[in-house]
Amino acid sequence: ATPVAIMVASGKGAKNGILFKDAAVIENTSRAGTIVFDKTGTVTTGKMKVVDEISFDDSFLSYAYTLESKSEHPLAKAVCNYAIEKNTALLNAEGFKALLGNGVEATIDGSTVYGGSVKFISTKLELESGVLAQCDKLSEEGKTPLLFIKANKLLGIIAISDTIRDDSKSAIAELKNMGLRTVLLTGDNEKTANAINRIVKFDEVISGVLPDEKEAYIRSFQRDGKVIMVGDGINDSPALMRADIGMAVSGGTDAAIGSASIVLMGDTVSTAVSAIRLSRSTLKVIK
Ligand code: ADP
Ligand code: MG
Repeated sequence: ATPVAIMVASGKGAKNGILFKDAAVIENTSRAGTIVFDKTGTVTTGKMKVVDEISFDDSFLSYAYTLESKSEHPLAKAVCNYAIEKNTALLNAEGFKALLGNGVEATIDGSTVYGGSVKFISTKLELESGVLAQCDKLSEEGKTPLLFIKANKLLGIIAISDTIRDDSKSAIAELKNMGLRTVLLTGDNEKTANAINRIVKFDEVISGVLPDEKEAYIRSFQRDGKVIMVGDGINDSPALMRADIGMAVSGGTDAAIGSASIVLMGDTVSTAVSAIRLSRSTLKVIK
Protein backbone atom coordinates (compact mmCIF):
# COMPACT_ATOMS: atom_id res chain seq x y z
CA ALA A 1 0.00 0.00 0.00
CA THR A 2 1.38 3.40 -0.90
CA PRO A 3 1.48 6.00 1.87
CA VAL A 4 -0.80 8.26 -0.17
CA ALA A 5 -3.48 5.57 -0.62
CA ILE A 6 -3.34 4.85 3.10
CA MET A 7 -3.67 8.55 3.93
CA VAL A 8 -6.66 8.87 1.63
CA ALA A 9 -8.28 5.79 3.21
CA SER A 10 -7.64 7.13 6.73
CA GLY A 11 -9.25 10.43 5.79
CA LYS A 12 -12.28 8.74 4.25
CA GLY A 13 -12.53 6.49 7.28
CA ALA A 14 -12.48 9.40 9.71
CA LYS A 15 -15.34 11.03 7.77
CA ASN A 16 -17.36 7.82 8.06
CA GLY A 17 -16.73 7.13 11.73
CA ILE A 18 -13.83 4.72 11.30
CA LEU A 19 -10.57 5.53 13.09
CA PHE A 20 -7.62 3.46 11.85
CA LYS A 21 -4.82 3.57 14.44
CA ASP A 22 -2.12 2.50 11.98
CA ALA A 23 -1.53 1.82 8.28
CA ALA A 24 -0.94 -1.93 8.49
CA VAL A 25 -4.44 -2.54 9.84
CA ILE A 26 -6.05 -1.35 6.59
CA GLU A 27 -4.28 -4.05 4.58
CA ASN A 28 -5.03 -6.71 7.22
CA THR A 29 -8.71 -5.74 7.27
CA SER A 30 -9.00 -6.16 3.51
CA ARG A 31 -7.79 -9.77 3.82
CA ALA A 32 -9.85 -10.91 6.81
CA GLY A 33 -11.90 -14.10 6.41
CA THR A 34 -13.57 -14.32 9.82
CA ILE A 35 -15.30 -11.62 11.87
CA VAL A 36 -16.10 -12.31 15.52
CA PHE A 37 -18.51 -10.20 17.60
CA ASP A 38 -18.97 -9.83 21.33
CA LYS A 39 -22.68 -9.73 22.26
CA THR A 40 -23.32 -7.33 25.13
CA GLY A 41 -22.66 -3.72 24.19
CA THR A 42 -21.52 -4.68 20.69
CA VAL A 43 -24.38 -6.51 18.93
CA THR A 44 -26.73 -5.10 21.59
CA THR A 45 -26.83 -1.50 22.85
CA GLY A 46 -25.64 -2.48 26.33
CA LYS A 47 -28.30 -0.17 27.79
CA MET A 48 -29.70 -2.79 30.11
CA LYS A 49 -32.79 -2.82 32.25
CA VAL A 50 -34.04 -5.05 35.02
CA VAL A 51 -37.24 -6.71 33.81
CA ASP A 52 -37.83 -9.40 36.45
CA GLU A 53 -37.06 -9.82 40.14
CA ILE A 54 -37.66 -13.08 41.95
CA SER A 55 -36.92 -12.68 45.66
CA PHE A 56 -36.36 -15.39 48.28
CA ASP A 57 -35.18 -13.03 51.05
CA ASP A 58 -36.54 -9.76 52.50
CA SER A 59 -33.16 -8.05 52.07
CA PHE A 60 -32.44 -9.50 48.63
CA LEU A 61 -32.32 -6.21 46.76
CA SER A 62 -30.11 -4.59 49.42
CA TYR A 63 -27.55 -7.37 49.01
CA ALA A 64 -27.68 -7.24 45.21
CA TYR A 65 -27.42 -3.43 45.19
CA THR A 66 -24.50 -3.42 47.62
CA LEU A 67 -22.56 -5.97 45.55
CA GLU A 68 -23.23 -4.31 42.21
CA SER A 69 -22.59 -0.77 43.46
CA LYS A 70 -18.87 -1.64 43.39
CA SER A 71 -18.91 -3.13 39.86
CA GLU A 72 -18.35 -1.29 36.56
CA HIS A 73 -20.20 -3.92 34.50
CA PRO A 74 -23.23 -2.74 32.46
CA LEU A 75 -25.29 -5.46 34.17
CA ALA A 76 -24.29 -3.95 37.52
CA LYS A 77 -25.41 -0.48 36.40
CA ALA A 78 -28.84 -1.89 35.54
CA VAL A 79 -29.17 -3.52 38.97
CA CYS A 80 -28.14 -0.28 40.71
CA ASN A 81 -30.58 1.90 38.73
CA TYR A 82 -33.37 -0.50 39.59
CA ALA A 83 -32.43 -0.61 43.29
CA ILE A 84 -32.20 3.19 43.50
CA GLU A 85 -35.65 3.54 41.91
CA LYS A 86 -36.96 1.31 44.70
CA ASN A 87 -35.16 3.32 47.43
CA THR A 88 -33.07 0.31 48.40
CA ALA A 89 -30.67 0.62 51.36
CA LEU A 90 -26.95 0.13 50.81
CA LEU A 91 -25.20 -2.21 53.30
CA ASN A 92 -21.62 -2.23 54.56
CA ALA A 93 -19.41 -4.45 52.45
CA GLU A 94 -15.75 -5.34 52.36
CA GLY A 95 -13.41 -7.43 50.26
CA PHE A 96 -15.17 -6.62 47.00
CA LYS A 97 -13.92 -8.55 43.96
CA ALA A 98 -15.01 -8.33 40.31
CA LEU A 99 -14.76 -11.82 38.85
CA LEU A 100 -14.37 -11.13 35.11
CA GLY A 101 -16.85 -13.05 32.99
CA ASN A 102 -18.43 -14.61 36.09
CA GLY A 103 -19.83 -12.05 38.52
CA VAL A 104 -19.01 -10.25 41.75
CA GLU A 105 -18.10 -11.13 45.36
CA ALA A 106 -18.01 -9.26 48.69
CA THR A 107 -18.30 -9.87 52.40
CA ILE A 108 -21.49 -8.48 53.96
CA ASP A 109 -22.55 -9.09 57.61
CA GLY A 110 -19.60 -11.48 57.95
CA SER A 111 -20.81 -13.75 55.10
CA THR A 112 -19.56 -14.07 51.57
CA VAL A 113 -22.14 -12.88 49.06
CA TYR A 114 -21.86 -13.75 45.36
CA GLY A 115 -23.73 -12.47 42.33
CA GLY A 116 -23.33 -13.76 38.82
CA SER A 117 -24.25 -16.13 36.02
CA VAL A 118 -26.08 -19.41 36.54
CA LYS A 119 -22.91 -21.25 35.51
CA PHE A 120 -20.76 -19.37 38.04
CA ILE A 121 -23.23 -19.54 40.96
CA SER A 122 -23.63 -23.29 40.28
CA THR A 123 -19.97 -23.72 41.24
CA LYS A 124 -20.77 -22.21 44.69
CA LEU A 125 -24.17 -23.70 45.45
CA GLU A 126 -26.20 -26.61 44.11
CA LEU A 127 -29.28 -25.01 42.57
CA GLU A 128 -32.71 -26.64 42.72
CA SER A 129 -34.20 -27.82 39.42
CA GLY A 130 -37.07 -25.33 39.77
CA VAL A 131 -34.60 -22.44 39.99
CA LEU A 132 -32.67 -23.72 36.96
CA ALA A 133 -35.93 -24.03 35.02
CA GLN A 134 -36.84 -20.44 35.91
CA CYS A 135 -33.45 -19.23 34.68
CA ASP A 136 -33.80 -21.24 31.44
CA LYS A 137 -37.18 -19.66 30.79
CA LEU A 138 -35.79 -16.13 31.26
CA SER A 139 -32.82 -16.95 29.00
CA GLU A 140 -35.06 -18.32 26.27
CA GLU A 141 -36.79 -14.93 26.26
CA GLY A 142 -33.36 -13.39 25.50
CA LYS A 143 -32.93 -12.06 29.05
CA THR A 144 -29.79 -12.52 31.19
CA PRO A 145 -30.56 -14.04 34.61
CA LEU A 146 -28.29 -13.10 37.53
CA LEU A 147 -28.32 -15.09 40.76
CA PHE A 148 -27.35 -13.82 44.19
CA ILE A 149 -26.38 -16.07 47.11
CA LYS A 150 -25.28 -15.50 50.71
CA ALA A 151 -23.49 -18.30 52.52
CA ASN A 152 -25.49 -21.30 51.23
CA LYS A 153 -28.75 -19.53 50.59
CA LEU A 154 -30.23 -18.30 47.32
CA LEU A 155 -31.29 -14.67 47.90
CA GLY A 156 -32.95 -14.12 44.55
CA ILE A 157 -32.83 -13.83 40.77
CA ILE A 158 -32.72 -10.67 38.69
CA ALA A 159 -33.36 -10.81 34.93
CA ILE A 160 -31.92 -8.15 32.69
CA SER A 161 -32.88 -7.34 29.14
CA ASP A 162 -30.86 -5.57 26.52
CA THR A 163 -31.82 -4.27 23.07
CA ILE A 164 -30.32 -5.50 19.81
CA ARG A 165 -28.87 -2.58 17.85
CA ASP A 166 -31.07 -1.55 14.90
CA ASP A 167 -28.43 -2.36 12.31
CA SER A 168 -27.04 -5.63 13.72
CA LYS A 169 -29.20 -7.95 11.66
CA SER A 170 -28.66 -6.23 8.30
CA ALA A 171 -24.92 -5.76 8.94
CA ILE A 172 -24.41 -9.46 9.67
CA ALA A 173 -26.31 -10.39 6.49
CA GLU A 174 -24.09 -8.00 4.53
CA LEU A 175 -20.90 -9.45 6.01
CA LYS A 176 -22.02 -12.94 5.00
CA ASN A 177 -22.68 -11.66 1.46
CA MET A 178 -19.14 -10.25 1.41
CA GLY A 179 -17.88 -13.79 2.04
CA LEU A 180 -16.95 -13.44 5.70
CA ARG A 181 -17.58 -16.12 8.31
CA THR A 182 -19.54 -14.45 11.13
CA VAL A 183 -19.28 -15.59 14.76
CA LEU A 184 -20.99 -14.49 17.99
CA LEU A 185 -18.62 -14.99 20.95
CA THR A 186 -20.14 -14.20 24.34
CA GLY A 187 -19.67 -14.67 28.05
CA ASP A 188 -23.43 -14.85 28.42
CA ASN A 189 -25.24 -18.20 28.62
CA GLU A 190 -26.18 -20.45 25.67
CA LYS A 191 -29.93 -19.93 25.77
CA THR A 192 -29.71 -16.12 25.84
CA ALA A 193 -27.11 -16.18 23.04
CA ASN A 194 -29.33 -18.43 20.91
CA ALA A 195 -32.35 -16.19 21.50
CA ILE A 196 -30.36 -13.21 20.18
CA ASN A 197 -29.14 -15.30 17.25
CA ARG A 198 -32.65 -16.27 16.20
CA ILE A 199 -32.93 -12.61 15.20
CA VAL A 200 -29.40 -11.64 14.10
CA LYS A 201 -28.38 -14.96 12.45
CA PHE A 202 -24.62 -15.38 12.78
CA ASP A 203 -23.00 -18.41 11.09
CA GLU A 204 -21.82 -19.65 14.50
CA VAL A 205 -22.55 -18.98 18.18
CA ILE A 206 -20.11 -19.64 21.01
CA SER A 207 -21.38 -18.85 24.52
CA GLY A 208 -20.38 -19.07 28.18
CA VAL A 209 -16.74 -18.16 27.53
CA LEU A 210 -14.36 -16.38 29.90
CA PRO A 211 -12.09 -13.57 28.63
CA ASP A 212 -9.05 -15.82 28.12
CA GLU A 213 -11.24 -18.39 26.37
CA LYS A 214 -12.38 -15.65 23.97
CA GLU A 215 -8.72 -15.14 23.16
CA ALA A 216 -8.18 -18.90 22.63
CA TYR A 217 -11.10 -19.01 20.18
CA ILE A 218 -9.61 -16.12 18.18
CA ARG A 219 -6.33 -18.05 18.04
CA SER A 220 -8.11 -21.15 16.73
CA PHE A 221 -9.92 -19.12 14.02
CA GLN A 222 -6.55 -17.73 12.94
CA ARG A 223 -5.65 -21.17 11.56
CA ASP A 224 -8.06 -20.36 8.71
CA GLY A 225 -6.77 -16.84 8.01
CA LYS A 226 -6.97 -13.30 9.32
CA VAL A 227 -9.51 -12.61 12.04
CA ILE A 228 -11.38 -9.44 13.02
CA MET A 229 -12.67 -9.16 16.60
CA VAL A 230 -15.31 -6.52 17.44
CA GLY A 231 -15.89 -5.77 21.13
CA ASP A 232 -16.51 -3.16 23.79
CA GLY A 233 -15.69 -4.62 27.21
CA ILE A 234 -12.72 -5.21 29.51
CA ASN A 235 -13.51 -8.90 28.97
CA ASP A 236 -12.90 -8.45 25.23
CA SER A 237 -9.42 -6.94 25.67
CA PRO A 238 -7.36 -10.16 25.33
CA ALA A 239 -9.35 -11.20 22.23
CA LEU A 240 -9.04 -7.72 20.67
CA MET A 241 -5.28 -7.83 21.16
CA ARG A 242 -4.95 -11.36 19.83
CA ALA A 243 -7.02 -10.75 16.68
CA ASP A 244 -5.29 -9.57 13.49
CA ILE A 245 -7.70 -6.65 13.56
CA GLY A 246 -9.32 -5.45 16.79
CA MET A 247 -12.33 -3.16 16.36
CA ALA A 248 -13.65 -1.36 19.45
CA VAL A 249 -17.09 0.20 19.70
CA SER A 250 -16.55 3.88 20.57
CA GLY A 251 -18.89 3.90 23.58
CA GLY A 252 -16.97 0.94 25.01
CA THR A 253 -14.49 0.70 27.86
CA ASP A 254 -11.04 2.35 27.75
CA ALA A 255 -9.54 -1.14 27.94
CA ALA A 256 -11.27 -2.21 24.71
CA ILE A 257 -10.42 1.01 22.88
CA GLY A 258 -6.78 0.72 24.00
CA SER A 259 -6.58 -2.90 22.80
CA ALA A 260 -8.09 -2.27 19.36
CA SER A 261 -6.46 -1.06 16.13
CA ILE A 262 -9.70 0.41 14.75
CA VAL A 263 -12.29 2.42 16.68
CA LEU A 264 -15.85 2.40 15.31
CA MET A 265 -17.54 5.71 16.10
CA GLY A 266 -21.31 5.99 16.25
CA ASP A 267 -21.74 2.71 18.12
CA THR A 268 -22.93 0.67 15.15
CA VAL A 269 -22.18 -2.74 13.72
CA SER A 270 -22.61 -1.40 10.18
CA THR A 271 -19.49 0.77 10.65
CA ALA A 272 -17.52 -2.51 10.72
CA VAL A 273 -18.97 -3.29 7.28
CA SER A 274 -17.88 0.14 6.00
CA ALA A 275 -14.38 -0.39 7.42
CA ILE A 276 -14.00 -3.66 5.50
CA ARG A 277 -15.38 -2.17 2.26
CA LEU A 278 -13.04 0.82 2.53
CA SER A 279 -10.01 -1.41 3.21
CA ARG A 280 -10.86 -3.67 0.29
CA SER A 281 -11.29 -0.80 -2.15
CA THR A 282 -8.06 0.85 -0.96
CA LEU A 283 -6.04 -2.31 -1.55
CA LYS A 284 -7.63 -2.89 -4.96
CA VAL A 285 -6.72 0.61 -6.05
CA ILE A 286 -3.06 0.26 -5.18
CA LYS A 287 -2.47 -3.36 -6.24
P1 ADP B 1 -20.36 -10.51 27.51
O1 ADP B 1 -19.37 -11.40 26.82
O2 ADP B 1 -21.77 -10.81 27.08
O3 ADP B 1 -20.02 -9.04 27.35
P2 ADP B 1 -19.21 -10.87 30.28
O4 ADP B 1 -18.07 -11.74 29.87
O5 ADP B 1 -18.89 -9.49 30.72
O6 ADP B 1 -20.37 -10.85 29.10
O7 ADP B 1 -20.01 -11.58 31.45
C1 ADP B 1 -20.44 -12.90 31.34
C2 ADP B 1 -21.49 -13.21 32.38
O8 ADP B 1 -20.93 -13.09 33.70
C3 ADP B 1 -22.67 -12.26 32.36
O9 ADP B 1 -23.64 -12.63 31.41
C4 ADP B 1 -23.18 -12.40 33.80
O10 ADP B 1 -23.98 -13.54 33.92
C5 ADP B 1 -21.91 -12.60 34.61
N1 ADP B 1 -21.43 -11.32 35.19
C6 ADP B 1 -20.37 -10.57 34.80
N2 ADP B 1 -20.24 -9.46 35.55
C7 ADP B 1 -21.28 -9.47 36.43
C8 ADP B 1 -21.73 -8.59 37.49
N3 ADP B 1 -21.13 -7.44 37.80
N4 ADP B 1 -22.83 -8.97 38.18
C9 ADP B 1 -23.48 -10.11 37.90
N5 ADP B 1 -23.11 -10.97 36.93
C10 ADP B 1 -22.03 -10.67 36.20
MG1 MG C 1 -19.44 -6.66 25.79
